[in-house]
Amino acid sequence: MSFQPSRRTFALAAAASPALLALGRRSSSSRQPRLSWPCADYQRGLRGTGNFGAYIDKPGSAFHGSWHLAEDVWLPAGTEVRAIADGIVRYSAFSPTWTDERRVVHWNLGNVIVLEHDFDPELDGHARLCSFHVHLGADRRVELGERVERGALLGRIGADRSEENGRYPAHLHFGIHVGAYVQIYPQLERELRAAAKSERGLVLGPNVLRGELTLERRGASDVFLQAADGSGSALLSLLVGSTAPEHAAPDIMGWCQGYGPKEVLGEWLAPAKFLRAHAAT
Ligand SMILES: [Zn+2]
Repeated sequence: MSFQPSRRTFALAAAASPALLALGRRSSSSRQPRLSWPCADYQRGLRGTGNFGAYIDKPGSAFHGSWHLAEDVWLPAGTEVRAIADGIVRYSAFSPTWTDERRVVHWNLGNVIVLEHDFDPELDGHARLCSFHVHLGADRRVELGERVERGALLGRIGADRSEENGRYPAHLHFGIHVGAYVQIYPQLERELRAAAKSERGLVLGPNVLRGELTLERRGASDVFLQAADGSGSALLSLLVGSTAPEHAAPDIMGWCQGYGPKEVLGEWLAPAKFLRAHAAT
């Protein structure tokens, strides 16, 4: 697949959000230390590499042929999980189980919290990152839209193989995604763009969009889609599915399956490597 999501489009569009601008002003005035670790003993919990970027070669596994997009941190259930930097809560919910168009079931990841962080661009050139905290317990301490400071308690690693953590062995799956938070996850963006280029066009209600698309974030909750040739436009709400596990649409959690194709891997940072460079010890 050749298409790469346009980070520039998202970054520019996200800059229009007053909440993010305010966040940016605050973080730009603070200096060291910028980041901290999500758990005490994080590096020990990695048990080596933490499997970041590992290729799964297990025929029969739902993850066969995909890459692990985060690090697995093997620390006990109940371990505190904290914000690595000041940020805004973009997702705090029990993640939905959903079925994609190929009828593949994407099992829930238990309780999940996603933060969006706004940095000075000199931080490795990353002005905006999202941190993903997956397989948490039900006792989440933050809510959607809430501002958190670096070190704030978000929740705890969920109980071993429990309903609250998605029935996984107790661990934290921690990922850092480059760019602003958008619920139009990369695979869906690719599908929208492919549909617009198809013979039928991208049909959204009465609107038909054809050819190249631009995606632009509008405020805190919407994405504006426009055909570059002016043939059509549509506004999609980013809030659909974000807090409603029941009947949830494939939303951000489709993006955060934990595993993904190779072209998606480049959108994720190796968390421990990044944190070693920027976190207080
Ligand atoms: Zn994992």
